[in-house]
Amino acid sequence: ELYNQVQDLKGSIRVYCRVRPFLSGQTNVQSTVDYIGENGNLMIVHPHKPGKDARKVFNFNKVFATSCTQEQIYDDTQPLIRSVLDGYNVCIFAYGQTGSGKTYTMSGPDLNTEETWGVNYRALRDLFQITKKRADIRNNSQLNGLNVPDASLIRVSSTQDVLDLMRIGHRNRAVGATALNERSSRSHSILTVHVYGKELISGSVLKGCLHLVDLAGSERVDKSEAVGERLKEAQHINRSLSALGDVIYALAQKSQHVPYRNSKLTQVLQDSLGGHAKTLMFVHINPDVNAIGETISTLKFAERVA
Ligand code: ADP
Ligand code: MG
Repeated sequence: ELYNQVQDLKGSIRVYCRVRPFLSGQTNVQSTVDYIGENGNLMIVHPHKPGKDARKVFNFNKVFATSCTQEQIYDDTQPLIRSVLDGYNVCIFAYGQTGSGKTYTMSGPDLNTEETWGVNYRALRDLFQITKKRADIRNNSQLNGLNVPDASLIRVSSTQDVLDLMRIGHRNRAVGATALNERSSRSHSILTVHVYGKELISGSVLKGCLHLVDLAGSERVDKSEAVGERLKEAQHINRSLSALGDVIYALAQKSQHVPYRNSKLTQVLQDSLGGHAKTLMFVHINPDVNAIGETISTLKFAERVA
């Protein structure tokens, strides 16, 4: 509660940065992360820029170093999840280029190993443990009054039900081979949880909503050498990501006009972005020196919304 009060003072948008560790086999790879400060500072060193221009500091609400565990990530996410039970609408996004660790943060590498569970499963486990109630959700492809053909609304009554659903969802995600990554995520994945509760003393009904969004890779189109349908798809993804950036930027600026209508993504999430809602953006970077271009553009995107 205190956390929420403090955060309310600072505004309802927070941005965390997570640095992916080098993977096994990546030995002797130069890192672009110079240092991570205690107050959410991250210093990036550019390999091709000379002297003092090589170093640039970015500021976030928090920066998670490569050694950070899934549990530590969740510790700093949990208060937001809990606020859904107080009737807040919450959006949690994972942003970053393909391979930077978005799915790792949101889902984890292995559903069968609880320690490695990402935010999705931990959040649902938490909500089920707290509510110990049956969720009543119907099949429906309407989301926020919009028709989203591939969306479904399904009744769940346990974390296991959700795990099963998430497995199906993962299989259904559009993946295709590109030059950049053999299995590049070319779709946004949204898991939405509606929570209904009754205030014990007053008896008033509380309605909260949690959107957990694993965004499509933010890499620029030319990098993946895409052509034809894939190029169109990539341009579409880039447009929806910049529309999301524009919405969050407008909200952070407390602007009169928030351009929700520029993409389906922001239209679907409209009720949960701004107003009485809280937003958390996990920005992911791959410290590999070869990813410097995408790292800088990811951090610039994040800096604009932070
Ligand atoms: P994205 O969803 O952004 O494309 P992934 O989450 O699939 O990226 O991560 C790419 C690879 O890096 C995967 O093999 C994943 O297991 C690994 N990885 C990502 N983040 C971490 C992390 N924090 N610790 C260990 N491995 C990670
Ligand atoms: Mg992914």
